[in-house]
Amino acid sequence: MRVVLVRPTHPGNIGACARAMKTMGLTRLCLVAPSRFPSAEATAMAAGADDVLYHAGVHASLPEALAGSGLVVGTSARRRGIAWPEAGPRAAATEVLDAARHGEVALVFGPEHSGLANTEIESCQLMVCIPTAPDFSSLNLAAAVQIMAYEVRQAALDEGPMSPRTEARSATAEQLEQLYTHLEEALVAVGFLDRAKPGRLMHRLKRLFNRARLDQNELNILRGFLAAVQGREKGSG
Ligand code: SAH
Repeated sequence: MRVVLVRPTHPGNIGACARAMKTMGLTRLCLVAPSRFPSAEATAMAAGADDVLYHAGVHASLPEALAGSGLVVGTSARRRGIAWPEAGPRAAATEVLDAARHGEVALVFGPEHSGLANTEIESCQLMVCIPTAPDFSSLNLAAAVQIMAYEVRQAALDEGPMSPRTEARSATAEQLEQLYTHLEEALVAVGFLDRAKPGRLMHRLKRLFNRARLDQNELNILRGFLAAVQGREKGSG
Protein backbone atom coordinates (compact mmCIF):
# COMPACT_ATOMS: atom_id res chain seq x y z
CA MET A 1 0.00 0.00 0.00
CA ARG A 2 1.33 3.39 -0.96
CA VAL A 3 0.49 6.93 0.08
CA VAL A 4 0.59 9.41 -2.81
CA LEU A 5 0.90 13.15 -2.18
CA VAL A 6 -0.01 15.14 -5.28
CA ARG A 7 1.93 18.42 -5.74
CA PRO A 8 2.58 19.08 -2.04
CA THR A 9 3.73 22.69 -1.68
CA HIS A 10 4.94 22.73 1.92
CA PRO A 11 8.05 20.61 2.61
CA GLY A 12 7.16 20.45 6.31
CA ASN A 13 3.93 18.69 5.40
CA ILE A 14 5.82 16.00 3.49
CA GLY A 15 7.87 15.26 6.61
CA ALA A 16 4.79 15.30 8.84
CA CYS A 17 3.06 12.86 6.46
CA ALA A 18 6.06 10.50 6.64
CA ARG A 19 5.80 10.60 10.42
CA ALA A 20 2.04 10.00 10.35
CA MET A 21 2.56 7.01 8.07
CA LYS A 22 5.36 5.43 10.07
CA THR A 23 3.41 5.62 13.35
CA MET A 24 0.73 3.48 11.67
CA GLY A 25 3.16 1.04 10.06
CA LEU A 26 3.02 2.44 6.51
CA THR A 27 6.29 3.00 4.68
CA ARG A 28 5.71 3.61 0.97
CA LEU A 29 5.47 7.30 0.14
CA CYS A 30 5.13 8.61 -3.44
CA LEU A 31 5.40 12.30 -4.27
CA VAL A 32 4.00 13.80 -7.46
CA ALA A 33 5.83 16.97 -8.51
CA PRO A 34 6.61 18.25 -5.00
CA SER A 35 7.52 21.98 -4.86
CA ARG A 36 10.64 21.20 -2.87
CA PHE A 37 12.09 17.77 -2.04
CA PRO A 38 14.29 16.66 -0.37
CA SER A 39 14.53 19.45 2.17
CA ALA A 40 15.78 20.02 5.71
CA GLU A 41 12.29 21.10 6.72
CA ALA A 42 10.78 17.80 5.62
CA THR A 43 13.44 15.85 7.49
CA ALA A 44 12.91 17.92 10.65
CA MET A 45 9.14 17.38 10.57
CA ALA A 46 9.59 13.65 9.91
CA ALA A 47 10.99 13.39 13.46
CA GLY A 48 12.69 10.04 12.93
CA ALA A 49 10.70 8.84 9.93
CA ASP A 50 13.61 9.88 7.67
CA ASP A 51 13.71 6.37 6.22
CA VAL A 52 10.24 6.88 4.75
CA LEU A 53 11.46 10.13 3.15
CA TYR A 54 14.68 8.55 1.97
CA HIS A 55 12.83 5.79 0.13
CA ALA A 56 10.06 8.06 -1.20
CA GLY A 57 9.49 7.91 -4.95
CA VAL A 58 9.30 11.22 -6.84
CA HIS A 59 7.08 11.18 -9.95
CA ALA A 60 6.23 13.67 -12.66
CA SER A 61 2.54 12.80 -12.84
CA LEU A 62 -0.21 11.00 -10.93
CA PRO A 63 -0.55 8.15 -13.48
CA GLU A 64 3.19 7.54 -13.08
CA ALA A 65 2.85 7.39 -9.29
CA LEU A 66 -0.08 4.98 -9.61
CA ALA A 67 1.78 2.49 -11.83
CA GLY A 68 0.98 -1.04 -10.70
CA SER A 69 -1.75 -0.08 -8.24
CA GLY A 70 -5.13 -1.79 -8.23
CA LEU A 71 -7.53 0.06 -5.97
CA VAL A 72 -6.98 3.84 -6.00
CA VAL A 73 -8.65 5.76 -3.17
CA GLY A 74 -8.68 9.56 -3.31
CA THR A 75 -9.40 12.02 -0.51
CA SER A 76 -11.11 15.36 -0.61
CA ALA A 77 -12.16 17.92 1.96
CA ARG A 78 -15.33 18.76 0.10
CA ARG A 79 -17.82 17.45 -2.37
CA ARG A 80 -16.95 18.47 -5.92
CA GLY A 81 -19.20 19.39 -8.78
CA ILE A 82 -18.80 15.83 -10.01
CA ALA A 83 -20.58 12.91 -8.38
CA TRP A 84 -18.14 10.07 -7.71
CA PRO A 85 -18.34 6.89 -5.60
CA GLU A 86 -17.77 7.92 -1.98
CA ALA A 87 -17.19 6.25 1.36
CA GLY A 88 -16.36 7.35 4.88
CA PRO A 89 -12.83 6.72 6.24
CA ARG A 90 -13.81 3.58 8.12
CA ALA A 91 -15.64 1.87 5.28
CA ALA A 92 -12.87 2.90 2.88
CA ALA A 93 -10.23 1.40 5.19
CA THR A 94 -12.04 -1.95 5.09
CA GLU A 95 -12.10 -1.83 1.28
CA VAL A 96 -8.43 -0.89 1.20
CA LEU A 97 -7.53 -3.86 3.34
CA ASP A 98 -9.64 -6.17 1.23
CA ALA A 99 -8.13 -4.89 -2.02
CA ALA A 100 -4.61 -5.23 -0.62
CA ARG A 101 -5.19 -9.00 -0.77
CA HIS A 102 -5.55 -9.00 -4.55
CA GLY A 103 -3.23 -6.22 -5.57
CA GLU A 104 -1.65 -2.93 -4.67
CA VAL A 105 -3.54 -0.04 -3.18
CA ALA A 106 -2.89 3.71 -3.42
CA LEU A 107 -4.24 6.37 -1.06
CA VAL A 108 -4.11 9.72 -2.82
CA PHE A 109 -3.99 13.17 -1.20
CA GLY A 110 -4.26 16.53 -2.94
CA PRO A 111 -2.29 19.79 -2.79
CA GLU A 112 -2.75 22.00 0.27
CA HIS A 113 -4.49 24.87 -1.50
CA SER A 114 -6.62 23.35 -4.19
CA GLY A 115 -7.10 19.65 -3.42
CA LEU A 116 -7.17 17.08 -6.24
CA ALA A 117 -8.13 18.24 -9.73
CA ASN A 118 -11.17 16.64 -11.38
CA THR A 119 -9.01 14.73 -13.85
CA GLU A 120 -7.05 13.33 -10.89
CA ILE A 121 -10.28 12.28 -9.17
CA GLU A 122 -11.13 10.35 -12.36
CA SER A 123 -8.13 8.11 -11.61
CA CYS A 124 -9.71 7.14 -8.27
CA GLN A 125 -12.23 4.35 -7.81
CA LEU A 126 -13.41 5.74 -4.51
CA MET A 127 -13.34 9.14 -2.84
CA VAL A 128 -13.14 9.58 0.91
CA CYS A 129 -14.25 12.65 2.78
CA ILE A 130 -13.29 12.74 6.47
CA PRO A 131 -16.33 14.07 8.33
CA THR A 132 -15.66 17.46 9.90
CA ALA A 133 -17.49 20.52 11.16
CA PRO A 134 -19.59 21.57 8.16
CA ASP A 135 -18.19 25.09 7.91
CA PHE A 136 -14.50 24.15 8.40
CA SER A 137 -13.76 20.97 6.50
CA SER A 138 -10.18 21.29 5.32
CA LEU A 139 -7.70 19.33 7.44
CA ASN A 140 -3.98 19.84 7.30
CA LEU A 141 -2.55 17.40 4.74
CA ALA A 142 -0.59 15.37 7.33
CA ALA A 143 -3.62 15.27 9.63
CA ALA A 144 -5.67 13.76 6.80
CA VAL A 145 -2.91 11.20 6.14
CA GLN A 146 -2.83 10.39 9.86
CA ILE A 147 -6.54 9.72 10.05
CA MET A 148 -6.59 7.49 6.97
CA ALA A 149 -3.48 5.57 8.07
CA TYR A 150 -5.02 5.11 11.52
CA GLU A 151 -8.26 3.76 10.05
CA VAL A 152 -6.39 1.27 7.86
CA ARG A 153 -4.39 0.09 10.86
CA GLN A 154 -7.51 -0.31 12.97
CA ALA A 155 -9.21 -2.26 10.19
CA ALA A 156 -6.17 -4.55 10.00
CA LEU A 157 -6.11 -5.06 13.77
CA ASP A 158 -9.84 -5.86 13.78
CA GLU A 159 -9.47 -8.34 11.02
CA GLY A 160 -6.55 -10.47 12.17
CA PRO A 161 -4.28 -12.37 9.76
CA MET A 162 -5.00 -12.13 6.04
CA SER A 163 -6.74 -15.01 4.32
CA PRO A 164 -5.15 -16.45 1.16
CA ARG A 165 -5.80 -14.93 -2.26
CA THR A 166 -8.60 -16.48 -4.21
CA GLU A 167 -9.83 -14.08 -6.89
CA ALA A 168 -7.98 -12.71 -9.91
CA ARG A 169 -5.78 -9.68 -9.30
CA SER A 170 -7.32 -6.24 -9.64
CA ALA A 171 -6.77 -4.39 -12.89
CA THR A 172 -4.04 -1.81 -12.36
CA ALA A 173 -4.37 1.95 -12.77
CA GLU A 174 -2.39 1.95 -16.04
CA GLN A 175 -4.43 -0.94 -17.44
CA LEU A 176 -7.56 1.10 -16.73
CA GLU A 177 -6.03 4.15 -18.48
CA GLN A 178 -5.27 1.93 -21.49
CA LEU A 179 -8.83 0.59 -21.42
CA TYR A 180 -10.23 4.16 -21.44
CA THR A 181 -8.02 5.14 -24.38
CA HIS A 182 -9.07 1.99 -26.25
CA LEU A 183 -12.75 2.54 -25.40
CA GLU A 184 -12.59 6.15 -26.61
CA GLU A 185 -11.01 5.07 -29.92
CA ALA A 186 -13.66 2.38 -30.42
CA LEU A 187 -16.51 4.77 -29.57
CA VAL A 188 -15.18 7.26 -32.11
CA ALA A 189 -14.76 4.49 -34.71
CA VAL A 190 -18.39 3.36 -34.40
CA GLY A 191 -19.64 6.95 -34.47
CA PHE A 192 -20.96 6.97 -30.89
CA LEU A 193 -18.52 9.63 -29.68
CA ASP A 194 -17.79 12.82 -31.56
CA ARG A 195 -14.34 14.13 -30.59
CA ALA A 196 -15.48 17.63 -31.53
CA LYS A 197 -18.41 17.37 -29.08
CA PRO A 198 -17.37 14.82 -26.45
CA GLY A 199 -19.67 16.11 -23.67
CA ARG A 200 -19.43 14.12 -20.44
CA LEU A 201 -19.53 10.66 -22.04
CA MET A 202 -15.98 9.55 -21.19
CA HIS A 203 -16.30 10.98 -17.70
CA ARG A 204 -19.46 8.95 -17.09
CA LEU A 205 -17.97 5.79 -18.56
CA LYS A 206 -14.85 6.13 -16.40
CA ARG A 207 -17.09 6.50 -13.38
CA LEU A 208 -18.94 3.34 -14.39
CA PHE A 209 -15.76 1.29 -14.81
CA ASN A 210 -14.22 2.70 -11.64
CA ARG A 211 -17.30 1.60 -9.75
CA ALA A 212 -17.02 -1.91 -11.17
CA ARG A 213 -13.47 -2.53 -9.79
CA LEU A 214 -12.48 -4.69 -12.74
CA ASP A 215 -10.17 -7.63 -12.24
CA GLN A 216 -7.58 -8.71 -14.83
CA ASN A 217 -9.87 -11.27 -16.49
CA GLU A 218 -12.73 -8.81 -16.89
CA LEU A 219 -10.38 -6.18 -18.25
CA ASN A 220 -9.02 -8.62 -20.82
CA ILE A 221 -12.56 -9.52 -21.92
CA LEU A 222 -13.38 -5.83 -22.47
CA ARG A 223 -10.15 -5.17 -24.37
CA GLY A 224 -10.83 -8.22 -26.56
CA PHE A 225 -14.39 -7.03 -27.18
CA LEU A 226 -13.20 -3.54 -28.17
CA ALA A 227 -10.58 -4.99 -30.50
CA ALA A 228 -13.29 -7.15 -32.14
CA VAL A 229 -15.55 -4.10 -32.60
CA GLN A 230 -12.68 -2.15 -34.14
CA GLY A 231 -11.86 -5.10 -36.42
CA ARG A 232 -15.46 -5.18 -37.74
CA GLU A 233 -15.49 -1.43 -38.23
CA LYS A 234 -12.31 -1.59 -40.30
CA GLY A 235 -13.68 -4.53 -42.28
CA SER A 236 -16.94 -2.76 -43.05
CA GLY A 237 -15.30 0.59 -43.84
N1 SAH B 1 -8.85 23.50 -0.22
C1 SAH B 1 -8.62 22.11 -0.47
C2 SAH B 1 -8.08 21.48 0.77
C3 SAH B 1 -6.91 20.70 0.51
S1 SAH B 1 -6.26 20.05 1.98
C4 SAH B 1 -9.91 21.45 -0.84
O1 SAH B 1 -10.95 22.04 -0.64
O2 SAH B 1 -9.91 20.31 -1.33
C5 SAH B 1 -5.07 18.95 1.31
C6 SAH B 1 -5.51 17.53 1.17
O3 SAH B 1 -5.75 16.97 2.47
C7 SAH B 1 -6.79 17.31 0.40
O4 SAH B 1 -6.59 17.34 -0.99
C8 SAH B 1 -7.15 15.91 0.89
O5 SAH B 1 -6.33 14.97 0.25
C9 SAH B 1 -6.77 16.00 2.36
N2 SAH B 1 -7.91 16.43 3.18
C10 SAH B 1 -8.03 17.58 3.87
N3 SAH B 1 -9.20 17.62 4.53
C11 SAH B 1 -9.84 16.47 4.25
C12 SAH B 1 -11.09 15.89 4.62
N4 SAH B 1 -11.95 16.52 5.43
N5 SAH B 1 -11.40 14.68 4.13
C13 SAH B 1 -10.56 14.01 3.32
N6 SAH B 1 -9.38 14.51 2.92
C14 SAH B 1 -9.00 15.71 3.39
